[in-house]
Amino acid sequence: MDSAEFTEFGTAMIQYITQYLDNIRDRRVLPTVQPGYIQDLIPAEAPEEGEKWQDVMKDIERVIMPGVTHWHSPNFHAFYPTANSYPAIVADMLSGAIACIGFTWMSSPACTELEVVTLDWLGKAIDLPPQFLSGPSNGKGGGVIQGTASEATLVALLSARTRFAKKHLSNARSFDEDNFISKLVSYTSEQSHSSVERAGMLGGVKMRMIPTDEDLRMRGADLKAAIQKDKAAGLIPFFVVATLGSTNSCAFDALDEIGDVCQEEEVWLHVDAAYAGAAFVCEEYRYLMVGMDKADSFNFNPHKWMLVNFDCSAMWIKDANEVVEAFNVDPFYLKHDMQGKAPDYRHWQIPLGRRFRSLKLWFVMRIYGLKKIKEHIRIQIRLAHDFEQMLRKDNRFEIVTPVIMGLVCFRLKDKSNEDNEKLLKRINERGKIHIVPAKIKDLYIIRFAICSRFTNLEDVKIGWQEIQDATTELFPSK
Ligand SMILES: *Cc1c(COP(=O)(O)O)cnc(C)c1O
Repeated sequence: MDSAEFTEFGTAMIQYITQYLDNIRDRRVLPTVQPGYIQDLIPAEAPEEGEKWQDVMKDIERVIMPGVTHWHSPNFHAFYPTANSYPAIVADMLSGAIACIGFTWMSSPACTELEVVTLDWLGKAIDLPPQFLSGPSNGKGGGVIQGTASEATLVALLSARTRFAKKHLSNARSFDEDNFISKLVSYTSEQSHSSVERAGMLGGVKMRMIPTDEDLRMRGADLKAAIQKDKAAGLIPFFVVATLGSTNSCAFDALDEIGDVCQEEEVWLHVDAAYAGAAFVCEEYRYLMVGMDKADSFNFNPHKWMLVNFDCSAMWIKDANEVVEAFNVDPFYLKHDMQGKAPDYRHWQIPLGRRFRSLKLWFVMRIYGLKKIKEHIRIQIRLAHDFEQMLRKDNRFEIVTPVIMGLVCFRLKDKSNEDNEKLLKRINERGKIHIVPAKIKDLYIIRFAICSRFTNLEDVKIGWQEIQDATTELFPSK
């Protein structure tokens, strides 16, 4: 394909994209295809001779779209949002064209430097304590773009493990290396994301699930009790993950209390705010991040709620040297003259290679501006409250947890888990909207998240009507 053809193809694709997104409301949010459907639609072998781009283009509607779950449909209310904006799509085009692999500063200086600056911008925009930012006045802190929150948690856990290995293996002769790892214990709330438990598994350390209070928050006293019990048993508590905005119900752990405990007990505190962290651009939600100054690392996903297409998970570390120490192996062929003057991001992450992801963060922050980003968050939270008000007027339902961000958790009042499950199934089968459940302390609940940036009040009303209709259909007597 030459550049003239690329221009035609690219122009056609941009037209297709705008039509797709402008008319996404008209598509059924959930596909109806069966597993293996694509095998019936395309040949079993790759073509020997190249095809025309026009023929490939035609197959998007025939082959791909029937099997797409339309995450950006205004009627998609499942999980949490995943971002989609034009500035981020365009930035990814440029990233694809430069196509550098920015593992060291020298391997593409702009790739590293823009990441440093945009993460400082973003950190300031959410009022992160300055120790997390880079720059001479701030000490050893710094930000990095990880692919996902799951990776950020694992990077934090492995860094904490190295901190403790250094501390204990040099001081106490009683720890031989094998024994040491088996004594390490980490902690998180029973409400935290499954990726936290998995980080413990991958890191080969115990992960204790701390029970939560009646608002599903992990509390300092419960964490303290668990840590002391383990210490008394000769174990080594070393790592805690606090969640701000849990995946089940958007609960916020008591960060300030947990931070105190982690400082007293000298354990690494990582804060996972994958979804809700974006809301800290708005001053009125920063009360939920009080205590952040006591954390060692913090992460949130601009790719969820901040208009930057997947993948862009922003992570800050108070002492970046601790990550570098855990990850650095430094072979000869990757050494360069400028080493030490700017971050070599390969030491801050699990893979070696990395894309130029800060471009999309830069484009989004510049083209929307913080003002529009705040507006986006506030509109979505307001819509969640609108939905909450609709629910409250129908006494067949109850709201299970406080509505703080863009998520409403509810269920059929005085009905069994099985009945609630039936309702959720019926709603999804009808195909107009898509929602998913959660289990909270054995209670089956239905989650309604405001996801698409196209969702407006009319869409929320449609969603509510769907839920009411499905309920009446299943339980006609009221
Ligand atoms: C979505 C979510 C995650 C996982 O995010 P990935 O970026 O997909 O790894 C982790 N923690 C919380 C609280 C989440 O909501």
